Amino acid sequence: MNPSLSRRFVQPLIFGLRRMPVLACLPRIDGSQWADATAVHQRQLQRLDELVRHFRSADPVYERLLRAAGADDVKIRDEADLVRLPILERSHLRELADGIRQRGRGRHPRFSVRLTGGSTGAPAAVLIDPAASAMSLAARVICQRWHGLELGHRQVRLWGRPPASGHLRASLKDWLLNRMSLDSLALEPPQLARSLARVSRFGPEYLYGYTSLIQLFAERIPSGQLAGILHRLMAAVCTSETMLAPQQAQLERALGCPVVEEYGCSEVDIIAYQCPAGGRHVVGENVLVETHRDGDEPDGYGQVLVTDLNNRVMPIIRYRLGDLAPLERPRCSCGRGWPCLGPVLGRSQGQYIQAPGRGLVHSQMVVYLVERLVAKGVGISRFKIIQDEVDHLRIALVPSDQTSFDLAGLGAFFRREGQAVLGPDMTWTVEQTTSEMLERGRINKFQHFESRIVS
Ligand SMILES: [Zn+2]
Repeated sequence: MNPSLSRRFVQPLIFGLRRMPVLACLPRIDGSQWADATAVHQRQLQRLDELVRHFRSADPVYERLLRAAGADDVKIRDEADLVRLPILERSHLRELADGIRQRGRGRHPRFSVRLTGGSTGAPAAVLIDPAASAMSLAARVICQRWHGLELGHRQVRLWGRPPASGHLRASLKDWLLNRMSLDSLALEPPQLARSLARVSRFGPEYLYGYTSLIQLFAERIPSGQLAGILHRLMAAVCTSETMLAPQQAQLERALGCPVVEEYGCSEVDIIAYQCPAGGRHVVGENVLVETHRDGDEPDGYGQVLVTDLNNRVMPIIRYRLGDLAPLERPRCSCGRGWPCLGPVLGRSQGQYIQAPGRGLVHSQMVVYLVERLVAKGVGISRFKIIQDEVDHLRIALVPSDQTSFDLAGLGAFFRREGQAVLGPDMTWTVEQTTSEMLERGRINKFQHFESRIVS
């Protein structure tokens, strides 16, 4: 589709149909990025204060958490007030979501549900306010403009998991949004030549996706063909996984365009975005980010706590993401007032399963199967996927309560559904374990996939 046609008509129509006033949010986000840094922070605290007051009266679960933390009377004026608020863990999200569902939709006739937990192995549902979704989408529009990208520009999306909707619906969505989606299987030799021919015909103006998949994509294009296939490329936006500085520089050389890091999570969507001067700016109009030390963190690092300033359906306030960031906040020369965040640690990267006869498949494809079980009501609090043989995967699950899993039924589910992703030659074992067992031998507590294959 012509980018200008997509930008001017199709995308506004989609926002309208989804009843999300994204375009109306643009001036607010655009103005906020250039405000004075102190004013941005003061406004964040003021809005957080309003948010806490709102949930104190609207959400009995949050009100109880405030009371337990001795913060039921707190008024947020500065950092000292802010740190009195309870830190929310993923288990709290489950409790908050259950409470809202039990109370019914009366107060919130519209919200969307997102499943979260892929990167830390403890799935939960998050209820998203449509106003918060619109502000996140608007933030992405503004941040992409920093790099010359507009709504409707042709996007090749390199994603590690299947679309949430059916294949036909996903293809229609891609066409309407002027994008083409590729997964790791599309970059493996049996499909590679066909995929590259499709990309070449499509002529992407930017790449968006998992860092490791964009890297794999760059490596798989024969060097003589790169300029021809990507002749319109203006930028590559890497998300979901850690990107190290040397890796970013190497990708920029390989692709011949700026490579930009987007930092976000499914609970609040976009958190920070790299500007052309290299600063990772927190989207100050939407989120408040703290780096908090519990004591176990490496020197100079703190836990990332995020607050969604727009979600009035479910409180995402001082929520522990499971990532680590430097305590020292870098400054950026670009003049934007939004605060900066140093390079984040803790995100998985390049976690691929070797599927017999198929090549590399991103481990998110199997995480998605676990999330489907959670959506069906199976009480899984944590999990780990271990590839211990070329043709064998172990799925270790921790129950969310005292009950025992139906291991035979779960084994049948993974064999049946997993076959479509990893082929018929992969064998599966499902086992029940405990959190303590899962911790043992873990290289990194945020890791959900481990490969024990010697390559
Ligand atoms: Zn900047």
